[in-house]
Amino acid sequence: MRTVRRVEPDRASPRLWRRRFDEREELWTEAVGRLPPVYGETWVERDGRRLRRFEPARSKLAAAIAADWTGPLPRPGERWLYLGAASGTTASHVADLVGPSGSVYALERSVRPFARLLATSERYPNLLPILGDARVPETYADLVPVVAGLYADVAQPDQAEIVRKNAELLLAGAGAAVLVALKTPSMGREHGPARHRATAESALSGFLDLERAVRLDPFHRGHYMVGGVVRDDRPGVRGPVTPPSGTTRGRRRS
Ligand code: SAM
Repeated sequence: MRTVRRVEPDRASPRLWRRRFDEREELWTEAVGRLPPVYGETWVERDGRRLRRFEPARSKLAAAIAADWTGPLPRPGERWLYLGAASGTTASHVADLVGPSGSVYALERSVRPFARLLATSERYPNLLPILGDARVPETYADLVPVVAGLYADVAQPDQAEIVRKNAELLLAGAGAAVLVALKTPSMGREHGPARHRATAESALSGFLDLERAVRLDPFHRGHYMVGGVVRDDRPGVRGPVTPPSGTTRGRRRS
């Protein structure tokens, strides 16, 4: 493992590390799991911390951060529900960001990526795989406690509706976070990316204070990261979420 110097923690999500150069920035997450790498990513050691390279080309969450996403991010100690975890590329980084005292409930519908997710979870103690269909949250609600954040990347045309259903059942109330990786090419060819984004945002605005969406091109063509923070407690969304001490959930400006 190499040694890397001059990395700084992100102010809002302190297990996210940024290494700045003149023209560019590298992102790293502080590893919870143990080697070998989850998908071939680089691991380094710095001041006794094990950091994993978080590549915009491999993860839509990394691409959003690289595109200056100012919305909520997973923070230490939080529980997150992750819809569409596939084999765990991004879900393992979310597990890094919530740290050993947090957890990620990682839902995947397809058996083949789920088998790889299971293997990853054996060395990621806070990554908890669930085989299930995100359209039917009642079928796994017993396995998931109320969560502080919801990340969705199921690449389905009705993703905003899937998010709404899961939020109603499993997401905490005011202050909870929602991040949605929106794949507009899978939402139909009759409209362009901006129109699809507006439609999804309109559906989410019923319960979220929306953050400014970011486009994930050129890393992920036709994708956006959209989302925000639950506006207030309302019937169907469970009680208020208590943020970790010393932090407040709100608009992120660094
Ligand atoms: N989020 C992953 C990452 O960044 O590493 C990539 C996810 S991939 C774009 C979309 C995944 O969503 C696929 O693995 C697919 O099987 C899963 N998926 C699609 N529909 C689903 C559903 N209704 N419930 C659960 N998973 C679903």
